[in-house]
Amino acid sequence: MSETKYIFVTGGVTSSLGKGIIAASLAKLLQARGYKTTIQKLDPYINVDPGTLNPYEHGECYVTDDGAETDLDLGHYERFLNVKTSQANNVTTGRIYQSVIEKERRGEFLGKTVQVVPHITNEIKERVQILGNSGEYDIVITEIGGTVGDIESLPYIEAVRQLLWELGDHNGIVIHLTLVPYLSAAGELKTKPTQHSVKTLMESGIKADILVCRTEHEISNELKNKIALFCNVKREAVIQSIDASTIYDVPILMQEEGLDTVALQRLALPDNTKPDLKQWNEFLHRHKNPKHEVNIGLVGKYVELQDSYKSILESFIHAGAVNEVRVNLRFIHSEHLASKNIDKKLQGLDGVLVAPGFGERGIEGKIDAVRYVRENGIPFLGICLGMQMAVIEYARNILGFANANSTEMNENTNDPVISLMEEQKTITNKGGTMRLGAWDCHIVKNTLAHKVYEGASDISERHRHRYEFNNEYKAQLEEAGMVASGINKDTGLVEIVELPSHPWFIGVQYHPEYRSTVANPHPLFVGLVEAALIHKKKQTNASLA
Ligand code: GLN
Repeated sequence: MSETKYIFVTGGVTSSLGKGIIAASLAKLLQARGYKTTIQKLDPYINVDPGTLNPYEHGECYVTDDGAETDLDLGHYERFLNVKTSQANNVTTGRIYQSVIEKERRGEFLGKTVQVVPHITNEIKERVQILGNSGEYDIVITEIGGTVGDIESLPYIEAVRQLLWELGDHNGIVIHLTLVPYLSAAGELKTKPTQHSVKTLMESGIKADILVCRTEHEISNELKNKIALFCNVKREAVIQSIDASTIYDVPILMQEEGLDTVALQRLALPDNTKPDLKQWNEFLHRHKNPKHEVNIGLVGKYVELQDSYKSILESFIHAGAVNEVRVNLRFIHSEHLASKNIDKKLQGLDGVLVAPGFGERGIEGKIDAVRYVRENGIPFLGICLGMQMAVIEYARNILGFANANSTEMNENTNDPVISLMEEQKTITNKGGTMRLGAWDCHIVKNTLAHKVYEGASDISERHRHRYEFNNEYKAQLEEAGMVASGINKDTGLVEIVELPSHPWFIGVQYHPEYRSTVANPHPLFVGLVEAALIHKKKQTNASLA
């Protein structure tokens, strides 16, 4: 018998029902009862990881401390649980096949024919159990990406079926997330799609233990009875998941519906404790009852798809709650920015964040935005590419290096203020050249960074980039007033730049957004929101004077 218990979360009817949020909410409730819980996501696509995916395809690529480029759902897991994830928490079909093929080449299958069953399914089972076998967790929740019935999900579903059989009763359960659509013409909620998707799951040999039904309207008791009877689950295992105004309400809604209680019962685990959600509820209260509001511009090139900046958006929610401020984000497409319309586009903003990104598209707009906030004393946070743009802007407009650039955008620039490090230049394999994951940063005393990080002198933050601040320009930039306030001591690489002459201007080479959680909002976002509030008050006072 295994000691760690497993909960598998599958999805039916459609994609985008929010399996990640349900999994994270259940994990939160179990954690709040004292169970050590983690979540894992299995993605049925053939990319080895989402690192090479365009954000328009799959939203943001989330980076963990160990440098894994992962699905954005891992961000939800960390934000909800405040527990770090790693490569083991995200597995794709590509990675599974890569590993099986490598084993085949090494002769590890001893001449056998290598097949989906058992070789691929065994590899999946092994990956699922890595976290459980670590001995660190009481419960592992494994979310299976995609929708039941999809061709590419089949090996995963088969692996889950085998695991349930091997784990034995009460050691593994299945939660199936479905949709109960509302037909406005008939004025009715419909259960048939749910019945069909439960049936599809049954055809693969898996009986759902719990159904979580996504809905836009309250599901009546009568309808819940019907779903229970026709889908062959216990009445208390039909859980309604109604649309919520914020994802952070979902744990509370799931608790009210008893999702954690049924899950524990099915796993034969004690459910005599009540989840301690005090901190969570305090956060929710502050989030929902702001005393002030600020307008912050998010300048980026993927603004059409909000999932591309998921962690940044969530970080603002955490930071807003700390400051009791509603943060109204204005999405500004960097490609549509130019010096002649900048005033109109950035007018009335109390703060600006220039977003990370890759490639040339939209960068001149980002540089114009930096110039505008620098000249107008508007609080500014530049993240990764945003920090690089701040350095380029300063070199161009203050040092007078008109063609200063990053070698990512112009290989032949006379002034490569952002460039590749020597040792990176020979690597060509995409994905292989990036500085990824957690790196240490030493903070210079008496700087804004030092204040923001509350006096910490050494921090660690996550990276995902190829190009670096070019230290050949450091002395000139510092002389001209741009201070390098964070440095990686081992490499000498610049991690933070700031402008002491400006009320609040900071650019970071790393991604603070990956580290912000409900329990631990990131100080840079908290600082930006606070600075935006101060800026707003100053503006209001000035206009009244
Ligand atoms: N394109 C830049 C680089 O590779 C910045 C990357 C980012 O913003 N994540 O260095």
